[in-house]
Amino acid sequence: MTLAERRPGGPPPKEVSSGRYMITDDCTSCGVCEYMCPQDAIKEAPNRFVIRRHLCDGCAECVPYCPVRAIVPAAEFAARQQETRTAQLRRILKRD
Ligand code: SF4
Ligand code: SF4
Repeated sequence: MTLAERRPGGPPPKEVSSGRYMITDDCTSCGVCEYMCPQDAIKEAPNRFVIRRHLCDGCAECVPYCPVRAIVPAAEFAARQQETRTAQLRRILKRD
């Protein structure tokens, strides 16, 4: 933060990046996106790959490489997760 930003009435401090893209449950853990991220923000987790939010700058380089379109803007993440859960539930209920 610069002195000008600290001064009362000065411009507000820049927001710390909180991640602009996220990976949904649709991830099949193929690992392609990990190699495409210039920020090294994508890592493997137990059930799928995840984006480390503090490192993601929102460049979207990774997005077109995901074969199942699991990398989505953070704003869409919750909606996509809910769609996936609903589809899984429907599949389970049809089996009975
Ligand atoms: S949007 Fe850019 S920085 Fe963020 S995870 Fe994808 S490639 Fe990495
Ligand atoms: S490219 Fe897509 S499916 Fe492959 S690990 Fe990344 S998010 Fe998962």
